[in-house]
Amino acid sequence: MSREGVEVVILGTAQDGGIPQAGCSCKNCTAAHENYKLKRNPVCCGIKGVDGSFHLIEAGRNLSEQLKLWSEKMNLENIEKPETVSITHVHLGHVDGLGQFGKEVMNSKDLPLFASKKTIEVLENRNVVSAFRCNVVKSGRAFSPSYTCGFELEFIKVPHRDEEADTHAILIHGPNKTLLFLPDHDSWEETLSEYKKETIRQWFTDMQINYALIDGTFWDSQELIDRDMLKVPHPPISKTIEMLGKKNINDPEILFFHLNHTNPVTDIYSKECQIVEVLEWQIAKDGQVFTL
Ligand SMILES: [Zn+2]
Ligand SMILES: [Zn+2]
Repeated sequence: MSREGVEVVILGTAQDGGIPQAGCSCKNCTAAHENYKLKRNPVCCGIKGVDGSFHLIEAGRNLSEQLKLWSEKMNLENIEKPETVSITHVHLGHVDGLGQFGKEVMNSKDLPLFASKKTIEVLENRNVVSAFRCNVVKSGRAFSPSYTCGFELEFIKVPHRDEEADTHAILIHGPNKTLLFLPDHDSWEETLSEYKKETIRQWFTDMQINYALIDGTFWDSQELIDRDMLKVPHPPISKTIEMLGKKNINDPEILFFHLNHTNPVTDIYSKECQIVEVLEWQIAKDGQVFTL
């Protein structure tokens, strides 16, 4: 039997390329090829409503493995398909599994998809949403993805290299707790100024969240040797934990995810991972479950 209440399962903790990343033979990718336990799916999470319905956030290309992982964590034999899908933005790893809902694979029809107006426009132009009934979501307005699911989603706009469309984080409001899903944003300066907050702690306190899954793409700005970091902006974990300091008693649980294959914290025995844990923050794991 599945547990009661609203349950969120992390179905992916890697950046859009996943780990191992295509064409890469770095230390982390090689280790993940050799040991499947070190693989990480691109960011994604699954929510089970109080009525037993399933709702997906992000649709990446590892959907087959992710639905399997989700069903295992929910003690079910199988999850055939989610009842709704929500998308934060149009970058590769967040949407490249949408096609799998089409007639070549799952053959869904009129599956409700929730995203911003701009996101839907881009996805329609790419011809990847024919299996879906698209619903425009307005920033800052909570809604229930289905009538009896017993939780609400709230899209909140965040600054992120928005060449094609905009980017949102998603608050999942359960009956007792709230979880923030924030895989991508450019910098704390921009995000905090968007919400007129001085500190990360103040922003999280004002949103009354219990769990925060946040952008941990890179450890520091030295990480991408062959690519200009400025073109791939994300707040590095080392900077975020410097801003946060140690966890206080009233702070939410903060977990870093959306990890790039170059990020040393992908190795749970690394010194960087220990630095995060000493401050009582966490590196998210694929398959972690939260009850809201
Ligand atoms: Zn991403
Ligand atoms: Zn690699």
